[in-house]
Amino acid sequence: MRKYSVLCIIDTVRQALVGGKARVAVTESARRKRWHRDDWASTFGVEKETKLEENWPAGTRVAVVLSFDTQGDVDAAIPGTTGTWKNGAVNFADLTQRQYDIRCGVPRILELLAEHGVKATFPICGITAEWYPETVREIQAAGHEVAVHGHWHLLFNTLAPEEQRRDIEDGTKAVADALGEQPKGFVSPVFSTTSDSFDKMLELGYLWNSDFDNDDLPYLLEKNGKTIVQLPVGLNDWDLWLMQDALGARMGGVPYASPSNVTDVLTSQFDQLYKESAREPRIFHYTLHPKITGRPYRAWSLGKFIEHAKSHDGVWFCTASDVAKLCV
Ligand SMILES: [Zn+2]
Repeated sequence: MRKYSVLCIIDTVRQALVGGKARVAVTESARRKRWHRDDWASTFGVEKETKLEENWPAGTRVAVVLSFDTQGDVDAAIPGTTGTWKNGAVNFADLTQRQYDIRCGVPRILELLAEHGVKATFPICGITAEWYPETVREIQAAGHEVAVHGHWHLLFNTLAPEEQRRDIEDGTKAVADALGEQPKGFVSPVFSTTSDSFDKMLELGYLWNSDFDNDDLPYLLEKNGKTIVQLPVGLNDWDLWLMQDALGARMGGVPYASPSNVTDVLTSQFDQLYKESAREPRIFHYTLHPKITGRPYRAWSLGKFIEHAKSHDGVWFCTASDVAKLCV
């Protein structure tokens, strides 16, 4: 009898807990459903029309923006990340893969871009710029744009507001010091934007940000009396080559991608945009990583795409800032 009572009490408590959780879940779900309607403007600002069409260069049909997120072995230096085993020991397999980024990835990409005579954008982490200033200078000397990709490649949505602000300030300063000029663009690590990190980008006067994935064309966001160009992410080599997550699969990733498959995705995307560009400007934005596409067979695939795009009239390989300047 006593045992039965105890079980009853446990069951009552369990039901109360489960019921409570369910109620929380319903409230949360309703809040999220309303979120995108009610809170977008207060979080990221009011959308404004761009001047892209009126400033669009005569004779241009498609602007191709290749953007290489570069972080080197930054993550590997952070305890508890993939750069360490669970017991805290350094994971040299992971570390050395990340080192490939600066050692081989960036040089191969720079060579490929030079071979085809095209410009690109390199959002780089502040710490990477501190550790490898010669790489920053080499990218800059080749005429490419260097932007900012956070300082320590930390996810902003896991940090306190003050930590986010400090990371963005530190990253901006480190890249500016290496460049000798103020960077104009910011890409959040893993697109982990928050209202606080977004406010900091605005405060620092960034011209453009590329964290969102909700449009083909850039648009303006105005908040706190400041304006920033949002250049949507476009295709991502992480999804195309590695398909690391379900999102990658849903968004067009190719499992165990072969180089020809990836080239096929890129040229198909381009061909459709080129067709549409007969009536209005089109932008082919491709977010890449030197540690991924800088591997030889993947660089081959990118080279094939560049050749394909260049064989069309009115194709402009440019930087993210080139496009952003047309918008304001
Ligand atoms: Zn990154």
